[in-house]
Amino acid sequence: MTQTITVIRGDGIGPEIMDATLHVLGAMNLDLHYEEADAGLVALEKHGELLPAQTMESIRRTRVALKSPLTTPVGGGFSSINVELRRQFDLYANVRPAISFPNTKSRFASGVDLITIRENTEGSYISEGQEVSADGETAVSITRITRTGSERIVRYAFELARSTGRKKVTIVHKANILKSTSGLFLKVAREVAAQYPDIEANEMIVDNTCMQLVMSPEQFDIIVTTNLFGDIISDLCAGLVGGLGLAPGANIGKDAAIFEAVHGTAPDIAGQGKANPCALLLAAAQMLDHIGKPDDATRLRKAIVATLEAKDSLTGDLGGSGNTMSFAKAIASRV
Ligand code: ATP
Repeated sequence: MTQTITVIRGDGIGPEIMDATLHVLGAMNLDLHYEEADAGLVALEKHGELLPAQTMESIRRTRVALKSPLTTPVGGGFSSINVELRRQFDLYANVRPAISFPNTKSRFASGVDLITIRENTEGSYISEGQEVSADGETAVSITRITRTGSERIVRYAFELARSTGRKKVTIVHKANILKSTSGLFLKVAREVAAQYPDIEANEMIVDNTCMQLVMSPEQFDIIVTTNLFGDIISDLCAGLVGGLGLAPGANIGKDAAIFEAVHGTAPDIAGQGKANPCALLLAAAQMLDHIGKPDDATRLRKAIVATLEAKDSLTGDLGGSGNTMSFAKAIASRV
């Protein structure tokens, strides 16, 4: 059956990297149908709204979106369009793979192949309970962890391990100090882990995790953790393997999933053909896994690796002299 994907071309370098990504997907002869929908500045200009109703309706119907970075103008009604999308579709799992790639300016050009799964809806990032005292001397914020929120994120991690053949889930916490919140997360995580005897589970305190990630990242397979720790750890992992130009991410909920590049709209290089399309291409590979095409996802990742190995038409950020589309064509020739 043909799968329909909502495509959001986005702002800044968004349209360029989306053209490049769709060119590569086109060369793969997948049974996909694309439905274009606007969001961000483009949508504001065309429809007078940052997130038009028809865009939300498209995602609700297709349940899968491939999205370029978006600009949220100040005073646009949202603090961030991305946060609003997560909230509206209850996209509770933020899934960020970090894989080493050859010929990148990274600390680990081999040996890293891990996925960070961050709880996306609660923890320290809830909007309530942010208070500063009248004299400006004391600030307080609330962290909320729930059994339901913890259970569904940890279950997502173990299910992903099972479905992708990964072997180990590391539960990252700070329950020794944050006894109530991190303590509840750890307790629930242990209960869920016990239901997956086929997957190895281990526990690690967040500060030690950071040190271990820098010293020997190859020991990690899947990491699951709460919102704030996951935010920090997923960027740390992106940094280990070559930075944001190669970092994809997905936000996944029960009823919808949005796949995207982690980097922003890069207005400094927009419209110049300089943007590296790999992060969005790797997000497309995550999407192919999600929609039940894991062989095609592997094919796409292998073509990216082969192109990097051959140093064929790489963009300037990777030390090459190619442009966004010539890089995409070089990848497309290897799928
Ligand atoms: P935003 O406000 O949308 O977050 P930004 O420019 O502040 O945009 P990024 O878009 O993440 O933040 O860019 C940070 C730096 O990385 C910029 O110098 C940008 O040119 C560069 N960069 C980001 N993405 C890419 C890419 N895909 N290819 C090449 N360079 C990139």
